[in-house]
Amino acid sequence: MAIVDALNNVLEKISQSAVRAGRRPEQIKLVAVSKTVTLDKIIEAVKAGVSILGENRVQEAQNKISDFRLQIPDLGIEWHLIGHLQKNKAKAAIRLFDLIHSLDTAELARIIDNQCRQTGKKQRVLVQVKLAYEESKHGVPEEDFFRLLEKTAVMNNVVIEGLMTMPPFYDNPEMARPYFRKLGKLRNRAEARGFRLPELSMGMSNDYEVAIEEGATIVRVGSAIFGERDR
Ligand SMILES: *Cc1c(COP(=O)(O)O)cnc(C)c1O
Repeated sequence: MAIVDALNNVLEKISQSAVRAGRRPEQIKLVAVSKTVTLDKIIEAVKAGVSILGENRVQEAQNKISDFRLQIPDLGIEWHLIGHLQKNKAKAAIRLFDLIHSLDTAELARIIDNQCRQTGKKQRVLVQVKLAYEESKHGVPEEDFFRLLEKTAVMNNVVIEGLMTMPPFYDNPEMARPYFRKLGKLRNRAEARGFRLPELSMGMSNDYEVAIEEGATIVRVGSAIFGERDR
């Protein structure tokens, strides 16, 4: 399927899910996940209307973003880091990304804060929460979440805009629903304590409709737009 058609399908489903949940479609932002995708296809997606691109690795994004900017100088495109951020890549990530979805330790927050102090940037971040025990997944465990939030909230150059999660993969998207609901509840508990966390980044190609029903404000969709990735 052409990227423009795939994109329009996704946008239509986003609208329908929002309406089903009694929400306005404009409340949901689409991150087109362009990891492993060639520059030509990324540009095609941008011409079709994509305005936020998501990458999961700093190294890959580095070349891609500079090549992209040579071809498409300024269209108000945002780049988001959706994958794990290693401490030694923080400096590069700050230079590249408008929003980092994967803050998961206070130490990483401190490194970002210090780097930003030198460059004058305010780095927008989401706290990635690990809601299922899986050896391989990153994210702050729920029991450490409030401590991380409190430590980071006092940092001047790190702006926490909300939460992100990535449930285990299920063929049946309904299986992911409890995790999405759990992230929403965690956000509500944090807001009751005075933190402002408007954004919920949750939902991928297989389950973004369910995520929107559960309050997602950002969905991260790759293969449903660009086609299946080679492994
Ligand atoms: C790859 C990836 C996505 C998108 O996955 P699709 O199933 O292709 O939509 C979303 N979020 C993260 C963190 C990813 O790494």
